[in-house]
Formats: sequence, C-alpha cells, structure tokens
Amino acid sequence: MILRRMSELYAPTLKEAPSDAEVISHQLLIRAAMMRKVAAGVYSFLPLGFDVLRKVEQIVREEMRAIGCQEMIMSIIQPAELWHESGRWDVYGPELMRFEDRHGHGFALSPTQEELITALVRDELRSYKELPKSLFHIQWKYRDEIRPRFGLLRGREFLMKDAYSFHDTQESLQVHYDEMARAYGRICERLGLEYRPVEADSGQIGGKVTTEFMALAESGEAELVYCSCGFAANTEVAEAKIATQIYEVDGLTKIHTPRVATIAELANFLNVSESATVKALSGMDGEGNIVVLFVPGDHELGDIKAEKALPGFRMLGEEEMLESGLVKGFMGPVGLPNGVRVVADNALRVLPQWLIGANETDYHFAGAKPGVDFNVDIWADLCTAKSGDLCPECGLPLQDARGIEVGQVFQLGTKYSVSMSARYMDEAGAEQPFLMGCYGWGVTRSLAAVVEQYNDEYGIKWPMSIAPAEVAVIPLTVGDELVELTALRIANELLTAGIEVVLDDRDDRAGVKFNDADLIGWPYQVVVGKRGLEAGEVELKIRLSGEKRSLPLEQVVAILVQQVADERKKYQ
Ligand code: ATP
Ligand code: MG
Repeated sequence: MILRRMSELYAPTLKEAPSDAEVISHQLLIRAAMMRKVAAGVYSFLPLGFDVLRKVEQIVREEMRAIGCQEMIMSIIQPAELWHESGRWDVYGPELMRFEDRHGHGFALSPTQEELITALVRDELRSYKELPKSLFHIQWKYRDEIRPRFGLLRGREFLMKDAYSFHDTQESLQVHYDEMARAYGRICERLGLEYRPVEADSGQIGGKVTTEFMALAESGEAELVYCSCGFAANTEVAEAKIATQIYEVDGLTKIHTPRVATIAELANFLNVSESATVKALSGMDGEGNIVVLFVPGDHELGDIKAEKALPGFRMLGEEEMLESGLVKGFMGPVGLPNGVRVVADNALRVLPQWLIGANETDYHFAGAKPGVDFNVDIWADLCTAKSGDLCPECGLPLQDARGIEVGQVFQLGTKYSVSMSARYMDEAGAEQPFLMGCYGWGVTRSLAAVVEQYNDEYGIKWPMSIAPAEVAVIPLTVGDELVELTALRIANELLTAGIEVVLDDRDDRAGVKFNDADLIGWPYQVVVGKRGLEAGEVELKIRLSGEKRSLPLEQVVAILVQQVADERKKYQ
C-alpha cells in the first residue's frame, strides 16, 4: 500500500449539492467527490468513489465465490436474436436500450443476462454429471428507466452482480437458492446494511419463488410489511388478512348521499370507519371485458395483484366509464350494466352485507348481500397490504417500512431453458431442460443504500468495510515541522501495520480539513495539532459514533491498530 495524500488526490468536494439531487445519498456522493453526473441516471466515479465501489464489489465477489459460484465476464452487447428466442425482445419494452450495427443487425445493451448465459451453456453443458453449475459476473447494466432518479438508486447505467445457476433437480436448485439467500444476508451484514429479506413479485424475469433483499430507508421506493414472527413481504404481493367492519341494516337500503363520491366522504357522511365501506374501481381485462373491482374501503387496489387476477388488466378512463354505462363515484355490484363482471377482494368474502355505490348518482346501498342482491364472478387477492393488516402466518398485526431493493434471488425453473432449448442429458440418456436460478445484486445501488443509512448533517459515515480509507491523519498546523513530521510518522506506521491511510497534507485551514473529513466520511480521524503535541497527545475522532478522545502520542499507533482490527471484524 502507498500513502495517499490529500494534496495529490483528485477529490473536488462541494459545499452545495446539485439542485436535482433529491435524496441524501445522491447529494452526499456528489458533494463528497465520489461521483459526477454524465447524463440523467449515468455517473462517472471519481477516485474516492471508485475505491468504495471496488470494495463493495469485492465483498459481493467473495461471498459468491464462497458458495462455489464461479466468476466470469460476459459482454454488455447482446444480439437481438437471443432476445427474440426468449420472446423478450417484444415484451421488454422501451427500457431495453436497442441499437443497430452498420449492417442493420439488431442489438441491445444488457439490462440482465438470462438470454446470453442460457445461449452460452446450452451446447456445452451437456450431462447431469456436470450439474449443478453456478456462474456470475459483475458488469454494467443498462435500462432506459422511465424515471431515472435518486442518483445511484435508480440509474440508467448501473453496476450489477448477476449470477445464474443450472440444475437437474428442484432439490438442487433449492439448495443453491438458499445458499444464495444466505450469501445475500452476509453481503448486507458486511456492508453494514440494516435489511430484510421479503417475499416479492418476480416481474419481467419470470419464475415463481423469489425473495427481495431490502435495505431499510425512508427514501426507498419499495413498501414492505413485516411481522414479529419473521414474516416480511413487499406490499405489492403480501397476502395479508384484512379486517373489515359491517355497516349493518335490515335488507337492501338505498341511501341518498348527495355529492358523496369518495370513500372518505361516505365514511364521514354516515359516521362510520372507512373499513365499513366497499370501494369500487373500473377496468378492462386483457380480453376486453369491462370489470368492476371491489376492495375494502380503507385499502388500495394493487397493480401487480390486479394483473395476476386479470392478465392484461388496465383501469378505465372517465370517457370509457361513461361509454360502458358506469357511474363514476357511485359504482356498485347491484344493477350493473349487462356483461360487466364483478371481481372482489378475498377480504370481502366474510362481509355479509356491503355499504357500496348504487350505480346511480348521489345514491349508495347499505345491506347489499352477495349471493342475494348480486353475484361475485371472481374472488381474488387484490389489495396492497398495509400496516395494521394481519400477518398471514401468525395473525398478529403487521408493521410497515420502506426499503431499497438491493438484491433479488429467483427460481426461474425452465422458463429460459425451454424457450431457448437449453438441455442436458439425464441419467437415462433423455434430454431435459435445465432448472435455472438467477440472482441479481445492485452494486451501485447498494453503495448508495449504505449512504442512505450512514449519514448526518456533516456528511457520510462510512462503515469501515467500504470506506475509501480506514484512517485519515490530519495535521492541523501546516508549516510547523513537528506537526508535519509527527503526522507523517503516524501515517507511515499505520500504513506499515496494514491500515489504509490518507494524509491530509493540504495547505488549508483546520476548518476546511475537518469539514472535508466529515463530508468524505473517513471512519477514524487522527488530528495532530501543535498544542496537543506539547502535551504529548493527538486527538482521535470516530466518525460513526462521534466519539472524540485524546490519545498519548506514544500509543496512538498501537491503539489504532487494535481499534481498526476490531472494527474490521464487525464486517467480516
Ligand atoms: P426495480 O424493481 O427497483 O426496478 P428490478 O426488480 O427491476 O428493480 P432486478 O431485475 O431484480 O431489478 O435487478 C437486480 C438488482 O439490480 C436489483 O435488485 C437492484 O439492486 C439493481 N437494479 C435494478 N435496476 C436498477 C437501476 N435502475 N439502478 C440501479 N440499480 C438497479
Ligand atoms: Mg428485482
């Protein structure tokens, strides 16, 4: 290792964050000279940020290799034919960055690598005897996100570790999937992330069994619910139990509710809680049928659940509602136009009578009984879960939190091996499609997630495992020979002891150095000042805890060597 000097380092720190930086990690990564914007969702990493990035990457690499996943590197450029084979060229949409070469051949910049790796192994991984195999690479990915934002959290160019595994039995896939999930937990711990593994939707990639790893943060775009029993799920998919209340009347009763067109207004008008009302939404399923969906009044319809219940589902616009004979704000299941299908959330099954729109402006029905006054065509799980709903596993009330999805593991099954004819020979000599797993980790996103969790008003507070250096030595009085020589000696001795050191030898005021040290977020800061030296002392500041201590000059190196060793252990 060499001693890094701040006087030489290219680290132009900034006092102000750029105006487009909404979240703290974006602001601080720019201000602390870790990165610079190139275009929306595209960044360059400056030397300090690059060092952090390499450390995150190295932790991910070590954990992959530790479970027998082999590193390789695949190209970013992918021929369109492979995407046609899997059927995803047409379904992936505008997120896929496409281009043509000079001969007019179609290509895409890799947003993920299932196609390429399946094509890679299909002719050469032939026998069950060679299975399982697990491969990964750490490579830039490209997605033309509709809303690139939050700096590294949602970029259009981002670094991902993606791994793919090939198996001949479900047991073998399950074993590796579990190993991967444990490895992801260790990566979170080594990065110092507070996290939760959650049940999730498999989205574009396909497959059924999947877990997302969520770094908890207020800025996270994902919402999750969790329970003290250990259950946790993305609210998009959580099958929570929802409690409803009855607004009980004797028989079907039409109520005049002038200008009461929202759930809040209805609850207020009748002085009942929103959970005693039923909410109606109109849409069209993939086959063009008009549907009206019903959910408990205090819950929202979830997009992913709606799509699952009614493939191709979309909401109706106001004009379409009118054309279909639906009455906005007053829809109900009783007296719907012919052919309109009634789809209701499972939570309403136990509700013997509904308080709901009457399909007539300014009127609602109370006491509308399913099976008597109307029929439900489809029962389904439709609601986005929220705090207070009951845990599907133990029945206790769920709590909610926001999270940043830093990684996701999937059991793909045979989706790609069937569509792309990737087969091996089983023991009996018969050809079988591989069972596959895929496992993505956002390297740049998890770096930003760490900053979301580790910061204060002064800057970043890097966990030691990924800090750009472990110790900063800061001589205060430039030009004072004793101060400068002492600082240099401490720095060199730490370096010899195998510690990563940066020496702030800039000819700057103490305030500038302190501000930069906190902004950049060096975990340990050793301040060497003239007055301290006269008393035979230097000052140690620990960025994470804010603790400050005077240390005797003779012992400072020995103490730091011990402290750094202890701190490193926390992230191993
Ligand atoms: P999201 O739902 O946040 O768009 P995703 O589920 O589409 O993400 P995956 O296909 O599972 O993402 O990709 C694997 C990992 O890559 C994610 O867990 C995340 O950490 C990272 N990732 C995905 N999209 C982005 C992005 N636009 N910017 C930064 N990292 C990303
Ligand atoms: Mg994902």
